[in-house]
Amino acid sequence: MLDKIISVAKKFITISSIKENPRKSPDVLIIAKKELSGFTIEDFEKEGVPSLLIYKGKARPKRFKFILNAHLDVVPGKKEQFKPVVKDGKLYGRGAYDMKAAAAVEILVFKELAKKLNYPIALQLVTDEEIGGFNGTKYQLDKGVRSEFAIAGESTDLGIKNQAKGVVWAKIKTKGKTAHGAYPWMGKNAIWKMINALNHLHKSFPEAKKEIWKTTLNLSKIETSNSTFNKVPDDCTVGIDVRYIPDDAKTIVSKIKKALPKEAEVELLLKEPAQFTDKNNIYIKLLQKATKKVTNKLAPIIVKHGASDIRHFNRVGCDGIEFGPIGFGLHTDNEWVDIKSLEQYYLILKSFLSTI
Ligand SMILES: [Zn+2]
Repeated sequence: MLDKIISVAKKFITISSIKENPRKSPDVLIIAKKELSGFTIEDFEKEGVPSLLIYKGKARPKRFKFILNAHLDVVPGKKEQFKPVVKDGKLYGRGAYDMKAAAAVEILVFKELAKKLNYPIALQLVTDEEIGGFNGTKYQLDKGVRSEFAIAGESTDLGIKNQAKGVVWAKIKTKGKTAHGAYPWMGKNAIWKMINALNHLHKSFPEAKKEIWKTTLNLSKIETSNSTFNKVPDDCTVGIDVRYIPDDAKTIVSKIKKALPKEAEVELLLKEPAQFTDKNNIYIKLLQKATKKVTNKLAPIIVKHGASDIRHFNRVGCDGIEFGPIGFGLHTDNEWVDIKSLEQYYLILKSFLSTI
């Protein structure tokens, strides 16, 4: 089985399915389809982004018990990263760790078990996770696809990631009154107003100096329409990138607004939900057991700062986690996945799905 996993993973890695190459997305899905004959394959497409939902039987059930979710898009890489290499027990290549090898495992586990299991299970293959998953996973959920529990094979080193921070992007704006730079008392300087506003903000959102499981705020950019020195600027805009923990989900926007003085206006650009599934969830417990059976170690429950497509499941009330093989170099020039852990990943998923 391991040879088969490596062979499918290699085929995926060879295709540069990056967002700059939208024509490659169908190609990578064709490879998956070839492995999945005999199943119902639903094709989805939104804004040119294709994705698949695969299951047994003719009709899609209202709710699957499990969805195995995998993204087959990758971030850009060096040319040689699209030529997979096996060396010293590792498979190197763009997407080896995030997450084409895990996708190969999910496909092969699904293929082996889906027809034998006495509950409905689906395989969901998408091609836009790296750019937000809005036209892949989220679109399928918008179209009514549901599951009791979802597993995304992201790079977690065989840990179970049950929560991730949500994202708020906003602009903070201050307005002033323009004047000649030699007569500043004639105007109102929007940048000084902004400095005052940011000092207030800093008190409520102190700068994180080390890794911390708390809501953090990054000042991302500062702009004014003023382009010269001898003028008092009458506008200033600052962009903020807030990463909030699930506990702050309900209060985060009002917390930002409350932290600022009245003269600063907030324009909300994006609010993406945090990811959260209770660590006492029955399927998390069973997955931990299955991991112990295969590796002799209890899978740790982990948190990460960046979110995945699982947040789209959480948004519609479905539980889910990220769980994938061991590797290194996510989004870097030196990305690899540990081959032994791919076999373990396969055995864990198989054991988990078979004991339900
Ligand atoms: Zn990923």
